Order: sequence, then C-alpha cells, then structure tokens
Amino acid sequence: MQESLMKYNGKIDFIDLKVVDINGRLRHVMLPGDRLDDSIFAEGIGFDASNFGYATVEDSDMIMVPDPDTAFVDPFYEATTLSFLCDVIKTSDGKPFMQYPRNVLKSAVGKLRTVGAAEALFGPELEFHIFEGVSYDVSASGAGYRVEVSEGYWNSGTLSKETRVDQKSGYHRCPPADSMAEFRNEVVLTLKKLGIPVKYHHHEVSSAQHEIEFLFQKAVSSADSIVISKYVLQNLAYRHGLTVTFMPKPLFAEAGNGMHVHQFLRDGSGRNLFSGDEYCGLSSMALSYTAGILFHSLSGSLLAFGNPSTNSYRRLVPGFEAPICAVFARGNRSAAVRIPGYVKDPAKARIEYRTLDASCNAYYGIAAMLCAGIDGVKEKMNPSEMGFGPIESNIYNLSEEEKKGIRFFPSDLKAAINGLAEDNDYLKGTFPEDLISRWTSLKEKEIKYVNSVPSPAEFKLYYDL
Ligand code: GLU
Ligand code: MG
Ligand code: MG
Repeated sequence: MQESLMKYNGKIDFIDLKVVDINGRLRHVMLPGDRLDDSIFAEGIGFDASNFGYATVEDSDMIMVPDPDTAFVDPFYEATTLSFLCDVIKTSDGKPFMQYPRNVLKSAVGKLRTVGAAEALFGPELEFHIFEGVSYDVSASGAGYRVEVSEGYWNSGTLSKETRVDQKSGYHRCPPADSMAEFRNEVVLTLKKLGIPVKYHHHEVSSAQHEIEFLFQKAVSSADSIVISKYVLQNLAYRHGLTVTFMPKPLFAEAGNGMHVHQFLRDGSGRNLFSGDEYCGLSSMALSYTAGILFHSLSGSLLAFGNPSTNSYRRLVPGFEAPICAVFARGNRSAAVRIPGYVKDPAKARIEYRTLDASCNAYYGIAAMLCAGIDGVKEKMNPSEMGFGPIESNIYNLSEEEKKGIRFFPSDLKAAINGLAEDNDYLKGTFPEDLISRWTSLKEKEIKYVNSVPSPAEFKLYYDL
C-alpha cells in the first residue's frame, strides 16, 4: 500500500469510493475499513456503469479503482471514513475506460506535449446561489410550479435567510447583508482540511449569490477540487437546512452563476509559456490558445461540454457580466476571454475564460477547453485576424453598427449540440466517438423534456389570455 496511506491502517471504520457519473455528479460505495489493503488498489470494485450514464446495459461491467493520491477523511460521516476518488477500468481487458471523465481529462493533458508544453494550470472560480429550497412539481398530474414573484423578478426558488440585497448589488457586501459569510468560512475551512487550495470567498452580485475562488492546480486535481467542493457545499448546506445550486441562471434579472477558469501552460522547467511581448504581456502561444478557445466556443462545440444545460443559455445574455460573443479583451467583463490587467509578473501571465458554468462535468468542460486551446496553438490561430478583438468597450452597450463583425455564441443548447456534430476534430483522441454520441443523445433528451414542460414564463405570458 502507498506509504502515505499507512497511517490509516487499522484506524478507519469505512472506505468510501467515489466515482464521477456522466453529468459530473459523485456516486459512492462504502467498504468496511479493514478492507484497506493492496487488493482494492490492484483489483478495484466492480459496478454497473450503465446506471452512471455510460455504456449500454449489455456491456456495462466496469471496475472502479481508487486513486491513492486523492485520499481524504470525509467530514460528513460520524464513523471515520477514508474517501477516494476513483478511476474506471474495463472488466474485459483491464484498460482505462476512456469515456470516464478523469480519463478524458488525463488524455487531454497528454496532448500538451504536441505543442511543447509540460503542464496546464487552472484556477477556477465557483459561483453559486444559496436558497432555503425550491419547490416544483412537473409530474403529469401535478399542479405545476410554485412560482413566487418577488422584488420584481420571477423567482424559481426561495431566497436564503440572507438579508436580501437589491438587484445586482451584492458584490463584496459585508455582513449583515452578507449573512452567509460564516457559512462560507465553514466551507473553506473544511476544504482546507481536505487539501483544496482556496484563494478567497465573497458575496457575489446577485441576491443570495456567492463565490469561492481556487488557487492554480494541475488539470485533474483542479477538476477534482471542483467536484469535491460542490460535494462539501451541498452537504454543509444540507446540515444548515439550506440548499446550494450551481444552476447557471436560477433567477431571472439577476446575475447568473459562471465558472470562470484562469489558465496558463508551463514547460518542463516550470517557465510560464503564456508570458511574452504581445498584447498584455502575453506570448503568441497564449493568443493562439485564446483563439482556439473562442473559435470552438463560437461553433458551439466547446459550449456543448462547457455549458451543457438548457439553463446555461439563459445566463449567456447581455447585462450580467456573462459573455455572449467570441471576443477577448484586457479588463472587459463582457468578453469571453479576459486578460486580467494587473498582471505584471511574467510567472503569472494567464488568460481567464469566462464562459464555462458549473452545470458542466468539470472534467469534460476543462478537457474540451484544453483541447480547443491546444488546437489554436497547433493551428497558429491569431485572434485578431479571426475578428475576435481585442474589444475594450462594454459589448452590451455597442450600437448595431459597432456590433458588426462581432460573432455571437449559439443561443441555446440545441445549437451547441449541432455545433458539436460539425466541429469535433479537435476533440479526437480525447473524447471517444461513443462519448460524443452518448452526450448528444443525453442532451437531446434533456432539451425535449424541458421543451415539453410548461414554464413560469409561459404562465406570465399566456395564463390570462
Ligand atoms: N456572475 C458572472 C457570470 O455569470 C460573473 C461575475 C464576475 O465577473 O465574477 O459569469
Ligand atoms: Mg464572480
Ligand atoms: Mg472571474
């Protein structure tokens, strides 16, 4: 057994094996603590992958194998429980199951050497709302939604105990308006115990909206941190009688929840490959990487993995600091890629992609984004020649004339999925064809379902006609 795990021998009641499903949710199975021996790492534990969204019922026997480097004592059990994130291998040949999210991301990282980079570093920002709860009933016989109209906007949830701030005015507010500061402290202290590096936390722009920002980590660790942080937030909220949602746009007329990701590439000696003499102290590699991300966002393909819910496209609208078009800029928060302007230190050169949201499977979202960036570098794309800017003025306020030449993102999930069908060469070797077709049918089913359910907006428009 790995040296670092020896200290747990004979000291734990349970082992908890956590596996990521196709949507990015954690699933788990618990083993008695005395099973902590080499065999669980060598042989793993069998499970039925079809229930996790992968594989067909006829061929769904897979094996979860705990990754010893992800061990942490799970704070949500009274019994001492040592938790692991797992990788998944196939029963048939013992090889990695390449649709499994962690394997997809590892394979994207493997592409870095094709552009002379050794590693990619990611610093995500997780935005979310805290509500007391949400009530809905969409069953055939049900009465429909319980919809409150409050503070002038349609509210699909109940605001938390928080003192309500005025619309769009919660950014960095202090207590008592920020009545969830202690809750976020508790979350961040817990994350620290689990080894997740946090930069800071604060109240965000919308009522009941919050943010936790993470320090840079390598790709897989960064996605692991997102998934574990969501788990911690959901469990601590539950203990307080609250709920946390990462839905991109839970409240109409308020800011939505993004998952911006700061990122840069490094070579084998640790040199930041994004630092250079071009725009904002970036290298031409950084600009090509940016162009790749914008190009594959515009086609819809990257959005299909990075913004994969019907709700994602309710966030990507003007007026809420969320991106709407393929543009990069220095400080402009309406741009899809921002170059944080205060960076003077070449070691800190980076770009911030602002389009992703946390309804994505973090592994797929980061993997698709990395493939898009790498493709931009390989193809030596130039963002200015491709018409992506830079544009320093607020895009939401441009006149029709000024908007000419700017290309806007697909406006719904269907268009993004169509984009994925047209533009997926850059994902080859990382996203297996089986996964792309499985993802497409999963999303088409969701679209069909959402379109078939009467929505609050329809009640507003049509109820009393
Ligand atoms: N909430 C905004 C979004 O949907 C971002 C606000 C910010 O710049 O942090 O992306
Ligand atoms: Mg934010
Ligand atoms: Mg940001």
